[in-house]
Amino acid sequence: MLPQADTPSRNRYAPPSAKSDCFSKICFDMSSGSREEVKKKIEPLEYQAMNRLFLFSILFFRGILGLTAESDQTSFMVGYSKRNITPTEPVPLWGYGDRHDELSTGIHDPLYADALVLQMNGTKLAIVGLDLGRSPSESSLMKIRRRIQKKAGIAHSFIAASHTHHGPVLELSNHPGMGQGKFDATLRYYHFLENQIVSAVINADQDLEPARMGAGKKILNKTPFQRNRHTKKSPPSVDRDLAVLRIDRSDGRLKTLLINFAAHPTSITSKDRRFSADYVGVLKREVSETMNCSVVFMQGASGDLSAQRGNNDFEQFGMRLAEEVIPLAHRIQTSYIKSDLQINEERFMFSSRVDWSNPLVAMAYGVAFFPELIPNYLKEYRDGIRPRLTVALLPGEIALVGASGEFFCEHAIRLKKRAALKHLFFFGYCNGYHQYFPTIEAVAEGGYGADQTVSPVEIGAGEKMMNKALIKLFQMRGIIGD
Ligand SMILES: [Zn+2]
Repeated sequence: MLPQADTPSRNRYAPPSAKSDCFSKICFDMSSGSREEVKKKIEPLEYQAMNRLFLFSILFFRGILGLTAESDQTSFMVGYSKRNITPTEPVPLWGYGDRHDELSTGIHDPLYADALVLQMNGTKLAIVGLDLGRSPSESSLMKIRRRIQKKAGIAHSFIAASHTHHGPVLELSNHPGMGQGKFDATLRYYHFLENQIVSAVINADQDLEPARMGAGKKILNKTPFQRNRHTKKSPPSVDRDLAVLRIDRSDGRLKTLLINFAAHPTSITSKDRRFSADYVGVLKREVSETMNCSVVFMQGASGDLSAQRGNNDFEQFGMRLAEEVIPLAHRIQTSYIKSDLQINEERFMFSSRVDWSNPLVAMAYGVAFFPELIPNYLKEYRDGIRPRLTVALLPGEIALVGASGEFFCEHAIRLKKRAALKHLFFFGYCNGYHQYFPTIEAVAEGGYGADQTVSPVEIGAGEKMMNKALIKLFQMRGIIGD
C-alpha cells in the first residue's frame, strides 16, 4: 500500500503402502530357510507344488503391487476454477493514499480469483490467487475458510493477493464510522467477494482429477524485470526468480501453471480509477491462451521491488514476462506424486512501533488515506500485530511459504538459500495483510516500507517468521525433530 502513487532430498516420503508391506512379508516368510532345508522337510511332489504356489504368489502379489502402483499414481488430484471478482458498483480503491475515498470509475480489465485445489491421501490444500491489493480482511478470510472446510473438507489454504493497486478497498466493515452507511456498496461487494472465492474453491474441488506435478525456475538476470525501490546499497537485493509450478493431467496434457514472481503491480497511474489486474492480468491471459491452460499468479516477496518496465506499459511488461514463462513451462517435467502433503500454519503476536492509542497518530493516518479506514486498522491491531505464516511441503522437494504482508525480498532470498530445497515458492500478501516486513538492515537504512508509517510491526518480526518457516521445513523433511 502506498500513500502516494508509486512510480517506482531429504524429503520424507510416505511409508510403503500396506499392500507392499504385506507382499514383502509374505515373500520373506515363503523364502525363509534355505531351499534345501525346505526340500528335506517335504516330498518332491509337494515341493514342486510349493514352488508353483510360490511362483503363483509372486505373480499374484506383483499384480496387486502393480495395481497399487497405478492407484498411487492416480491418488494425487488437482482441480482448478476461476471466478470474476470485479466490483459491479463504484467503490473506493485500494493502494494509493492520494486517491483517498474517491470512487472507481469503471473497468479497464476484470479481476479474477483463480483457485487450485490439491488433494493427496485425503488432505486437501487450496491455493487461491486474487487480483486484489491484499488478501481479504480477517472477517472475510475466516468466513471463506469456514465455508470451504464445511463444504469441501478443505482445512488448509493459501489465499493471496497479486497486490494490484487497481482493486477495491477491503478494510471497511459494517459498523458506524467504519464504512456502514457511507460505503454500503463496498460492504455489498465483500459478500460478493466471499461468495465468489468460495464458489471458485468449491468448483475447483469438484474439478479434481488425477494429476502429475513438477516445478522449475528461471533467474531473470539478463534483462532486469525488477528494481529495488528502497535501498541505496549496491548491489541492491533483488529476488530475480521466476518460478513455475506445472500441473499436468494424468495423460500428460498441461492443466494449470502457477506463476510466482515478485514485483509491485503499480504500473498504472493512481489517477486512473478503473479496475485492473495490472501486468498480472496480461501475463495470465497471454500464458493461458498460448499454452491452453489455466493460470494462477502468486505474488512474491515484493515489499521493496517494483517492476522495471523501461518504456513498456503494463501490458507490454506482462507480455514480456509471459515470453519468459512459456518456454520455462514447456521445459518442466512432471511426475506422479506418491507422498503426502504436509501443511502447517501459525499466527504470531508482535508489538507495534506505532502508538495507535495516540489520537494525533490516528488523525494523521485518516488524512493520509480516509477516516473510515482508521478505526478498522485500530480494531485489527488492538491486540498487537498478528501475521500468519503458512508452510507446505509438497512431494519433490517443493515448498510453499505464505506470509501475510509485504515482505522485503531479502527475506525470501535468504529463506530459499537456507532451506536448500529444490524449489521454494514464496507467497506474500497471503492469508491476511499486516503491511510491510522489512529486514532489520532495511529498517536501519530507513525509507519507505522500512519506516513505521507503513511498517508498524516490531523490528525483526520478519526474521522471526522466516526462522520459523525454516524450522518447519526442516521438521517436515524429518531433518530435525519437533
Ligand atoms: Zn505495496
